[in-house]
Amino acid sequence: MRITVCLTDNNRPEPWVAGLQAELPHADISPWSPGDVPADHAVVWAPPQEFLDEQQQLRGLFNIGAGVDALLKLNLPPQTRIVRLDDAGMSVQMAEYVCHALIRHFREFDVYEADAREGRWSYRRPRERKDFTVGVMGLGVLGERVGKAIGQFEFPVTGWSRSPKQIDGIRCFSGEAGFDDFLAASRVLVCLLPLTAQTRGILCRDNLLKLNGGKPGGYIINVARGAHLVEDDLIPLLDAGQLAGATLDVFTAEPLAPEHPFWRHPKITVTPHASARTLREESIAQIAGKIRALEAGAAFDALPGVVDPRRGY
Ligand code: NDP
Repeated sequence: MRITVCLTDNNRPEPWVAGLQAELPHADISPWSPGDVPADHAVVWAPPQEFLDEQQQLRGLFNIGAGVDALLKLNLPPQTRIVRLDDAGMSVQMAEYVCHALIRHFREFDVYEADAREGRWSYRRPRERKDFTVGVMGLGVLGERVGKAIGQFEFPVTGWSRSPKQIDGIRCFSGEAGFDDFLAASRVLVCLLPLTAQTRGILCRDNLLKLNGGKPGGYIINVARGAHLVEDDLIPLLDAGQLAGATLDVFTAEPLAPEHPFWRHPKITVTPHASARTLREESIAQIAGKIRALEAGAAFDALPGVVDPRRGY
């Protein structure tokens, strides 16, 4: 069995090759270079089209991230199946990030930080959790874990997914039919959807105006993809007082340009796509486990994290 590793964006392939080789000693594993012999499986991050044009015999394309919107834009060989990371240490990081952003806003730690810089001893009146229902968009591997973590802090939690769900502690809505009720019931919105034709631009003015029953004070935490948010809609809603703030980890153009107004807006907190990083050891163990299962005769559809290209995630 031959495995090729093709990583871009400053990801060095060598540690991945070494880690995979330790897990799969019988495999022939190397970093990809143009003109290589065809491989059975590939471990990839944002591979160029040229790579896929050459590797026409690939069975599995193992992405070292959870989102596959960029991969689905490429022309894949017809038999190639995309397998994404299935948690691999990302859900706990996402839960930390979202709970931090939520609690920072709810407890007004951002205000205390600003006061502290001025040497001001101030006191904020406690706010009530029941007034801060948190709506999690996307109840998959990451969204469900995040929703449960938020529930541990006793916030009311709502969730929205494509198919109907029952999750302890989360009031679940589903499909287009459930979307407006979900928005009306939620004050803080956490986006953990995949980026698809249906979800692109879903955080737009019209939808954001429906948050919290139309009352001002909504808050946005976008940790999915930049293109979920219509970026031009955000600042007017903040400046008008309709939205109280936003924590954004992802942007339509990354890195976010130094002159972008999001950096310096007082109601926006920016992080550089850092909410849940790929952890190499966990990811290698997961990918190797899936390749071993395939070699032992398992079908792709029996593996967790196999992407359905028709639904786009
Ligand atoms: P999953 O595929 O496990 O979950 C996706 C969820 O979104 C599912 O609950 C799905 O519904 C729901 N969904 C998809 N389309 C729709 C729709 N049209 N309407 C309503 N619900 C929909 O993905 P993960 O939880 O693993 O990851 C989610 C996303 O998070 C990734 O796609 C990626 O873009 C982003 N991400 C960002 C990271 C970062 O560092 N900022 C790191 C990792 C991931 P159903 O359950 O019914 O299928």
